[in-house]
Amino acid sequence: MRIILLGPPGAGKGTQAKALAEKLKLPHISTGDLLRQNVTKDTQLGRKAQEFMNKGALVPDELVTRMLNERIEQADVKGGFILDGYPRNINQAETLDALLKQRNMELDMAVYLDTSEPVIIQRLTGRLVCSSCGANFHIKNMPPKKDMLCDNCGGRLYQRTDDREETIRERLKVYRKEVSELIRYYTAKQKLHRLSADDEAGPVLDRLLNMIAEYNDSLKV
Ligand code: AMP
Repeated sequence: MRIILLGPPGAGKGTQAKALAEKLKLPHISTGDLLRQNVTKDTQLGRKAQEFMNKGALVPDELVTRMLNERIEQADVKGGFILDGYPRNINQAETLDALLKQRNMELDMAVYLDTSEPVIIQRLTGRLVCSSCGANFHIKNMPPKKDMLCDNCGGRLYQRTDDREETIRERLKVYRKEVSELIRYYTAKQKLHRLSADDEAGPVLDRLLNMIAEYNDSLKV
């Protein structure tokens, strides 16, 4: 299956994509994670991307698309993927369709994680990320067992530089401008599925899995 998760920053795309990928045994591709890896490794791409990321702005399509194309090329993606963070605009949505078409593939579902603004701000300002394995925690909702250390691998937790309130507001502004077009795009292709995502991660994942099971059933009829 090829699924993309859409939704505002803080909708839980990363958390849900990771959980879904484990359940469905598919690779999780996150353009945000791939960019942050490039920043950490101080690659040429990482250096170019960082200034945009720090401002909460989108990294130019060309850079992100090249990076995604390389990832899709890899063998583990043949059987499908859970993609989060891409597409962010219509140009990227069309590019994704073209990249898949070149490989005789098609997207199955675009799932929109509907989330309200107070929930977004609360989630993002408290988010902690593991510097080693990328796992997400939250200062209040999901605190690590040991202070600022990852439960899974013991790596150091940090707050993303773009998770400050003023950067979050900028990211939301960018997001709102682009998302309505994406929603129209995938609705017209009859691929859009909406899901309320203000709840805790567990119930949202259950609803997501039900939605995917219904979709798979509908293919059998
Ligand atoms: P995320 O982890 O998805 O919240 O992304 C973090 C930051 O990475 C965003 O604020 C953008 O600066 C950049 N980014 C991630 N994915 C994309 C994309 N598809 N297009 C442009 N910029 C992106």
